[in-house]
Amino acid sequence: MKKVGVVAKHLSLSYGKTEVLKDITLSVEPGEFFALLGPSGSGKSTLLRLIAGFNQHQGGSLLIDGKDVSGTPPHLRNVGMVFQNYALWPHMTVWDNVAFGLVERKVDKKTIQQKVEDALDLVGLKQYAKRRPSMLSGGQQQRVALARTIVIEPQVLLLDEPLSNLDKQLRVQMREELKNLQRTLGITTIFVTHDQEEAMTTADRMAVLDKGILQQVGTAAGLFDFPGNRFVAGFVGTAN
Ligand code: ADP
Ligand code: MG
Repeated sequence: MKKVGVVAKHLSLSYGKTEVLKDITLSVEPGEFFALLGPSGSGKSTLLRLIAGFNQHQGGSLLIDGKDVSGTPPHLRNVGMVFQNYALWPHMTVWDNVAFGLVERKVDKKTIQQKVEDALDLVGLKQYAKRRPSMLSGGQQQRVALARTIVIEPQVLLLDEPLSNLDKQLRVQMREELKNLQRTLGITTIFVTHDQEEAMTTADRMAVLDKGILQQVGTAAGLFDFPGNRFVAGFVGTAN
């Protein structure tokens, strides 16, 4: 798989008079596992949706694989997004949920068969192919959501608080699974979380957001040892 970078330059976005993202400049390296970390309401989802193409920025530019994607619709961006609530189709089986994006793209049947099998294998859900999502645990539903996204082989994987609906123990386990999956695929990944520990234990680097302003970008150790301001010191320092 080709590894691509994501670059934001002076991005801004407002809802009416409310500025939600202010002059965001950051660079996610090809193949990197990058976290967007910040408290609730800091603009993490808005920034992720902007990268996915569901939101449009008003100022600045956004480059994926070196190309300006301003105005490019989501399905032409080569990105895959996993939503916080998973957004699985309740009336479809696990198999059909995972196959959906390929059917939509008119991929031939044989290829769909192989790709869905591979994706379900990768997340350890082969034996659940015929079940409906409601018959699965939260962790399993999360894996279906991941399989459904990676099956279309996006160049960038966007994860919006993918573990926040799971209980603590499962969250820690899924964290490891996610990290392993990301390493296996080598896919550029942007992971949104409000949980410092989650970001620090999974990501290569992270950006700390507060009130739509990028506070600092760095590695876990870098942010922990050399916080750039009081907000970062307080937010990152409360990791346990
Ligand atoms: P986070 O994901 O970090 O919790 P969000 O990106 O969801 O933050 O939201 C950032 C800010 O933008 C919040 O103040 C939120 O109320 C506001 N906001 C988000 N979506 C909309 C919208 N569609 N219309 C108006 N305000 C919005
Ligand atoms: Mg959010």
